[in-house]
Amino acid sequence: MNIQIAIDGPAGAGKSTIAKIVAEKLGYTYIDTGAMYRALTLKALNEHINLEDAKSITDLLTNTKIQLKPSSNGQLVFLDEKDVSEEIRSNEVTKNVSKVASHATMREIMVDHQREMAKQGGVVMDGRDIATAVLPEAELKVFMSATVEERARRRYEDNKHRGIESSLEQLKSEIAKRDKLDSEREASPLIQAPDAIFLDTTELSISEAAQTILELANE
Ligand code: C5P
Repeated sequence: MNIQIAIDGPAGAGKSTIAKIVAEKLGYTYIDTGAMYRALTLKALNEHINLEDAKSITDLLTNTKIQLKPSSNGQLVFLDEKDVSEEIRSNEVTKNVSKVASHATMREIMVDHQREMAKQGGVVMDGRDIATAVLPEAELKVFMSATVEERARRRYEDNKHRGIESSLEQLKSEIAKRDKLDSEREASPLIQAPDAIFLDTTELSISEAAQTILELANE
């Protein structure tokens, strides 16, 4: 039987890497909802839209096409038919995405779109509000976290891999700032759903964390 798996948690907890592996092993669709908010942020920055203005951001989304397409090396993100998979990971987008993601009216449209995407059968979706708002009926809900030091270290290694120079201390403070914005906003804040299983990945390898979720999915 195909199920829905919701994975939430703060930045750098390992959600997308692990969700991707779980989806692949189960033959499910992987949906990275953070990538969708990032794509909208990229467009808002390119069009010099006031990121604090809920109406402008909501109107922008109604005139925007965001698509996630599976590819051999993960998932590709298309913004108005253009591949922006790399661009949405820039520092500029990362720094501003939580501001854009805070607007409730925009989120309603994004959540509808995400629910529609999840109708296609077995799905692993990761984000901040999947268990609480997007897929509250998901059969398996996981809240993944790790210490802020470990999450910053992972981002640092990831950046190095992408050829981006960064400072560990700065990454730590940026992550802490984003966590605060995401968990203190009014619209669908980042919180653990009461029926979600907490998974601390600080001391776990990627394959150990993926295995834990696969075992939970097979229960
Ligand atoms: O997962 P990722 O770090 O790429 O997410 C980027 C940002 O998008 C988050 O910091 C958060 O502000 C926003 N987001 C959200 N709801 C989701 C997924 C991401 O608000 N479901």
